[in-house]
Amino acid sequence: MKDFFRSLQYLKRYRVRIGIGMVCVVLIAGIWGGGLGLLLPGAKILVDPEGLHGWVYREFAQDRLNTTLVRKSMRDDRNFYEQHLNSVLEVSGVKKHDKACDLKTGEWVVGRVGPGGQVEPLDDRQMVRYLSQLPLEQASTLSVFDPDSGKFHQVTVQPVEKPTALARAEQKVVIGALTWVHEPQNDAQRLPMFVWLLVLVAVLTLIRGFLTFLQEYLVGTAIARGIMDLRCENYNKVLHLPTTFFSEKGATDAMSRFLQDIGELSRGQNILLGKTLVEPFKAAAVLVVALKLNWQLTLLTVIAGPPAFIMLRKLGKSMHRASKRALQSVSLLLGVLEETLTGIRVVKAYTMEGAERKRFFNVNRQLLKQQYKMERLDAVVGPAIEALGLVFGLVATGLAGYLVFVGSPWFGGKMDPLKFLVWLGTLFALFDPVRKLGKIGPKFQQSDAAAKRIFELLDTTPEKQVKNAPTLGRHCQSIVLENVSFRYPSASDDAVKNVTLTIKAGQSIAFVGANGSGKTTLASMLPRLLDPTAGRILIDGHDISQYSIRSLRRQIGLVTQDTVIFHATIGENIAYGLRRPKQEAVLQAARKAFVDEFTRTLPDGYNTMVGEHGATLSGGQKQRIAIARAVLRDPAILIFDEALSQVDGESEQRIHQTLAEFSKGRTTLMIAHRLQTVLEADLVAVMEQGRITATGRHEQLIESCSAYRALFQNQLQ
Ligand code: ADP
Repeated sequence: MKDFFRSLQYLKRYRVRIGIGMVCVVLIAGIWGGGLGLLLPGAKILVDPEGLHGWVYREFAQDRLNTTLVRKSMRDDRNFYEQHLNSVLEVSGVKKHDKACDLKTGEWVVGRVGPGGQVEPLDDRQMVRYLSQLPLEQASTLSVFDPDSGKFHQVTVQPVEKPTALARAEQKVVIGALTWVHEPQNDAQRLPMFVWLLVLVAVLTLIRGFLTFLQEYLVGTAIARGIMDLRCENYNKVLHLPTTFFSEKGATDAMSRFLQDIGELSRGQNILLGKTLVEPFKAAAVLVVALKLNWQLTLLTVIAGPPAFIMLRKLGKSMHRASKRALQSVSLLLGVLEETLTGIRVVKAYTMEGAERKRFFNVNRQLLKQQYKMERLDAVVGPAIEALGLVFGLVATGLAGYLVFVGSPWFGGKMDPLKFLVWLGTLFALFDPVRKLGKIGPKFQQSDAAAKRIFELLDTTPEKQVKNAPTLGRHCQSIVLENVSFRYPSASDDAVKNVTLTIKAGQSIAFVGANGSGKTTLASMLPRLLDPTAGRILIDGHDISQYSIRSLRRQIGLVTQDTVIFHATIGENIAYGLRRPKQEAVLQAARKAFVDEFTRTLPDGYNTMVGEHGATLSGGQKQRIAIARAVLRDPAILIFDEALSQVDGESEQRIHQTLAEFSKGRTTLMIAHRLQTVLEADLVAVMEQGRITATGRHEQLIESCSAYRALFQNQLQ
């Protein structure tokens, strides 16, 4: 889970929102627990003859005497009823080793004995009130009836105080609050009490609703902002990754991490801090209520926790694995999509629809397999927790039933049936948040797998850049390659081997060689799209690796074979890379590169939008736009990768004209495929398997270099 927790760092900036959300959560859980706490008083008001007051005083009387007391109606015991009281207080349990009183289980407490020895009979209501307010640590005498022997006798009790300050404070608050509530004398008087209770529940529900809204809104927006920061940081990182990263993993892998993985992560964060954050607090609040009702029985149920935790851990691990594979499959799926959709013309031309459909289906099926597994794991969690909870819950409930009907001195005698019912209710209420929490455990694992992939990207080493690197001045003397070699990370052999070459400023050099001989790799090292694995490149005597990449790239104009055109207007495409391009300069560059020629015929001229990747333009037009882009930057160095195809004869002619004009006074490196380019170059370098095997002018090389002659015959003509 470490990657998931690492992702939470991005929320640090929004800690105030999250903090308020947390406060809301605690309040919500408190209200939730409080609402459940109202169940028993509600039941007492509604159905129990002893009523709310009777119950509260009885609870405190029990505490003082350390016994369990129950109300006993005397209506069935006509003899006693007619002579004495219609209801009495029965001792239903006495705790062992208790010094507080001498009462015995089964006895009825029927009156108090005054200082003069006179007995004043008290029914259960009067008695609990009297007992709950008995002076502490002082002996008081009670009149007690033993139904077994049918005799009255007197018992001395010495009430004890509640042991903790919290319990004492609670007692004070509750008794204080109760004095405000009118004690009903008959059923009709109970109705207003019940209505007030409902009003209280309604108010609490409204407050809880508002707090829930506030919490979800604040946390949700904090997460959205944190995720946006993460996305931006990731994007920034991607922009500074070495180009080899993309050639190895493919751009879609990074894209998939951006969309799918970050989405997954944000879902996980929302689960943790949003709706479900309240669940453990709710569970804790309910647990407090349940423990208060009967701690022994509640603890018995809670034993189910550790086995459930172990089970969830196991499931979580499987979920992590499945989720990681699923995310990889999504990335593959995107890769296939990108390939086929961008190459749709080739797919159609070669009637590869069937094969592509099969390829897509296979990757899709892979994804489905992982999704099946994830669904299975997800679906098993709920029932598994329920089964575990049920077993432990049933054992505890069985025991509770025993306590209601028979009672046990270990649990303080018999259990009040209403209390039992309410305890059972809280048990169900406890189960709900626990089940929800259990279900989200595996979801976190899903998010953790996504976070891992995101941080993998973020932790990739960026392009090498010297800190506070000095600015490289505009090139005006020479470019020197000293024993330069380069090997692609995945390759076993160098793509460029030990190349040493000097190019004077203003010179144009054409690289020729078979496909794969290393021309593109060599040219890519000058703007540091690739860094030599051995050797160095000097511009005007300065090692370019020690200077700022920005100052280096700003003086290089790059026109690649697969021209990059952005989904923007023609004008914007030409001005790409300049902050505030001047309209006039853009037009001039466009004219020089013969872009003007075809743009003029378009209805929107330079404001014409070109399709994605320049889909609405021809190959020659795209390359002319790329040249105009280079012209506009006025670079000291021009790198030109001649297009092999895509360019019609007229475009080719135009491109050459531009190049001849534009390369004047600039150092120009050309990857040449055409004779004319080679003929016009000041120097031709022949490349074979990563090495420069010969340099010279065309006429010299035709004479002296057999490899060049072969190239001339096969390619250049
Ligand atoms: P050229 O431009 O002369 O056609 P390249 O410079 O593109 O040649 O390629 C030189 C060698 O490097 C070739 O053998 C090619 O297979 C290999 N190569 C090119 N790009 C990569 C890459 N991203 N990863 C591994 N090997 C590569």
